[in-house]
Amino acid sequence: MKGTRIATFALGCLATAALVSAQTAGPAPGESLSQSYRGSQARNVEYQKIAPFKVMDNVYYVGPGSVSVWLVPTSAGLILIDTAQEPYVDTVIDNIRKVGFDPKNIKYILLTHGHLDHFGGATKIKALSGARVALTETDWNFMATQQANAIKNGRGPKPGDEAPAKDMVIKEGDTITLGDTKIKVYVLPGHTPGSPAYEFTAYDNKKPYKAFVFGGPGPRNGVEGGTEFLKSIERLEKDFTDVQVALNVHSYLNSYPYPNDMGILELRDVKAKNPNGPNPFINNALWRQWLKDAHAGAVKYIAEEKAKAQKGQTN
Ligand SMILES: [Zn+2]
Repeated sequence: MKGTRIATFALGCLATAALVSAQTAGPAPGESLSQSYRGSQARNVEYQKIAPFKVMDNVYYVGPGSVSVWLVPTSAGLILIDTAQEPYVDTVIDNIRKVGFDPKNIKYILLTHGHLDHFGGATKIKALSGARVALTETDWNFMATQQANAIKNGRGPKPGDEAPAKDMVIKEGDTITLGDTKIKVYVLPGHTPGSPAYEFTAYDNKKPYKAFVFGGPGPRNGVEGGTEFLKSIERLEKDFTDVQVALNVHSYLNSYPYPNDMGILELRDVKAKNPNGPNPFINNALWRQWLKDAHAGAVKYIAEEKAKAQKGQTN
């Protein structure tokens, strides 16, 4: 009895400590707010559980602080872009309810690429809603191969981190239509071999704007991935300079941070301070500056990776 009471008291203290640390925790010196979610506070679970917020008439942020989950309500159900991963999937589901929607009405889960932090919640949210899970053929295969290799090496996924079963295959030029909403699909590889990107019309006070989700906004996989990534950036610089609402896959982008420290949470705070002013998420100049930064960064990445490969050969 006494033991139970002590244990309960200890648990209570732990819960309080977690709450206090979430409330008092913040960015480390030199870190921006968005950056803290991927930096000093990356493992602070309570800190990560931020309140959902409205970005546009038909776009809500329902993810944890570190990784975006975008909710796009339509006249015929909900579209979810990415799912985050455990231990945040129930928070995502709750956040959807908090902004006034029923997660059972999700019809499509569009994944931005085959990395766990984006697909981790897909199986659970699909089971809850019956939604179709969409990804490119290349990234479905990439996700399955990564998981198979991990299992072979004795590092299989933790329960809840399994890759979703292959479902809907999307490709360049597809349009996903749900009610009044059309989402166009592009393939812009480099972060993963088949990272898709999504374009749709977002509204602010009923006025239309071009919204864009770039699925893989940083290069991976050495010279090969870097070269593909640079090609994707060049395509964006040619055909997508008119993006007005860049809905990024993380509040802070590790590879090429948002210019002027304007990550998603900074934009959220600017909007909250001046709710009747211009919507800070509508910012074509920020997008174009980011493309410039990403272009220069990709060129540098490829040069560094080439140097590394050469050093490897001469050793
Ligand atoms: Zn990734």
